[in-house]
Amino acid sequence: MGRRRRRVVKTIKRTLPKVFACPQCGMVTVRITSHEDEISHDVIYLVACGNVACGVRRELRYPAKKEEIDVYNTFVDDFMRASS
Ligand SMILES: [Zn+2]
Repeated sequence: MGRRRRRVVKTIKRTLPKVFACPQCGMVTVRITSHEDEISHDVIYLVACGNVACGVRRELRYPAKKEEIDVYNTFVDDFMRASS
C-alpha cells in the first residue's frame, strides 16, 4: 500500500527563499515575490507579511529588476513614513 517512494535525489538548494523582518508585527515572515508587467514591462514586487494576524502587503514597481534587499528597504521606509 501507499505510494511508491520516489528515488531521493538530494539537491541542496542554496537559494532559500529569503524572508525579512516585518516592520509591523516584528516577525521574520515577509516575503517578496516579483513579476513583470506585460504592458509596461515594469517589475512589480509584492511584499507581503506571512503572518495572517498582520497581513501587511505592499506593491512596489520598478522599471528594472532590483535586489530584494533594496525592495525590502524601500518597503520599510515607506511603512515607517506612513505610520509616523
Ligand atoms: Zn507582519
